[in-house]
Parts: sequence; structure tokens; C-alpha cells
Amino acid sequence: MNEMNLDLKNNVAIVTGGSKGIGKTIAEKLILYGCKVAVLGRNFNDLKIFKNNFNSSDNIMILQCDVSDYDQVDISIQEIYKNWGKIDILINNAGINRDKLLLRLSNEEWDDVISVNLKGVFNTTKLVSKYMLKKRYGKIINISSVIGQIGNSGQSNYAASKSGLEGFTRSLAVEFGSKNINVNAISPGYIKTQMTEKLDEKNTNDMLNNIPLNKLGKTDDVANLVCFLSSKVSNYITGQVINVDGGMTIK
Ligand code: NAP
Repeated sequence: MNEMNLDLKNNVAIVTGGSKGIGKTIAEKLILYGCKVAVLGRNFNDLKIFKNNFNSSDNIMILQCDVSDYDQVDISIQEIYKNWGKIDILINNAGINRDKLLLRLSNEEWDDVISVNLKGVFNTTKLVSKYMLKKRYGKIINISSVIGQIGNSGQSNYAASKSGLEGFTRSLAVEFGSKNINVNAISPGYIKTQMTEKLDEKNTNDMLNNIPLNKLGKTDDVANLVCFLSSKVSNYITGQVINVDGGMTIK
């Protein structure tokens, strides 16, 4: 019997929103496993800070790109392919929230969230999958949220985008299954990042009472599963939404 070896060396991975939070830890871990990683984000300064944390930058590419803009994504993906000649792994992590009760939610706040969280994933996946289909190999991992399954007051736009993302994941798993491309989603619960730092003490305590493990998750908790699903070790898993939520959704 062999011990589990993720064997990700020299795989080419794209991580959207990899300059901060969960995406940053995902990108760092994939680099640690020997992947070449391209990180996409809008703020170039944050991307530079991310890259400067590494002694050697041979395996890191940073690209200023708004994933909601098809043409920007197209240019970025072409650049990655031109430099590294293949794309094995796509991590659709970039996501935003604009939380408000429905009657206060503006058209713009609705559109912004759908444009990044859903249209952005369509853009990257469509443009990357053509290379994966040609090679008949690929791992696509979409970062969803438990809110897409359980809903939350003040998050109708965010929940709709994440439910949509989970349906998108299952459909593509069927569409790409015979082409040896796995498509899965990970739904984090509450993970300690800038996104959850905004919550006040009462909300944080209410939240902890609903989590059987009684603690917030770490970005590492999500990134570890991403690495597993990015590797050949998980070849027989597709079309799944796996929750990393401390048991929150079983309550
Ligand atoms: P975060 O700390 O706010 O980081 C978001 C990342 O996405 C940043 O790097 C940001 O960089 C990038 N981004 C945002 N809009 C973008 C766009 N239009 N184009 C390209 N990049 C964009 O968020 P996070 O908490 O790590 O969340 C990451 C993912 O996990 C999201 O999809 C989120 O919905 C999901 N999630 C998070 C939690 C949680 O508890 N934190 C729970 C469930 C699900 P720029 O601003 O420079 O573009």
C-alpha cells in the first residue's frame, strides 16, 4: 500500500482572488506543493505584496484582472498559456458580498455580486476549459458558500450567486466528465478572513452557537481540501459540493 502523495509538481494552476484571504492560502499551498501558480486580482499592489513574500518568483505569475470582465480574463488566460503551455487546475475563488435587506438592495449591488461571483466564474471556466478539453485533463474547483444552501437574511444576492455556482458545478461535471475534467465545489462556513472580520461580537457569538465544532474555520481548512481535489488522488470525485463548515449545516 502506498502513502497518499498529492504529486502536484509542475501542475499549472490559476487562483482567482489569490492575493488575500482564502485564495491567498490556496495559492501559497499550491506553490508549496510545487505548482506553478497564476494569481488574478484587481488590486495590483496587493498582488505585488503577495509575490514579494516568496524568495523565488519563477513559479508565480500575478495578473491584474477583474474576473467579471470577459476580455480582461481572456488576455490573462492567454498570457498564462503562452508562458506555461498548459493549464491543469482552475480555482474559482474570487468573490464579493454586498449585504443588505432586499428592499434596500440597489440594482447595482445585486449586479455587482452576480457579475463577480457567477459571471466571473463563467468567464474563467469557459476560457480555461478549452485548453483542458484539448488536453483531456483538468481540475476545476469553485469556492461557494454554505449561505448558498441555507440562505441568510440580508444576503439574497450572495446566496443566489452561490446556489447558482453549485448548479453550475454539477452541470459542468456532467458535461466534462467524459473528457477527464473534474469539477467540484467547496462550501466554506465561517472562515476567519477580512470578509468575516466585519461581523460584530453579537453576530460572531450567535454564529459560534450554531457551529458544532464551536470555532471559526481557518483558511488552511479550505486550502487543504483544494489541494486534495486538485490532485490525482481525488480522480473519482466530481460534481460534488463539499462543506468545510465545522458541522454548521447539519444543525
Ligand atoms: P476576501 O478576503 O475579501 O478576498 C477576496 C479576493 O477576491 C481578493 O483577493 C480580491 O482581490 C479578489 N476579488 C474580488 N473581486 C474580484 C474581481 N472582480 N476580480 C478578481 N478578483 C477579485 O474574501 P475571502 O473571505 O477570502 O473569500 C474568498 C471566497 O470564499 C469568496 O468566493 C467567498 O464568497 C468565499 N467564502 C468565504 C467565506 C468566509 O468566511 N470568509 C465563507 C464562505 C465562502 P481584489 O480586491 O484585489 O480584486
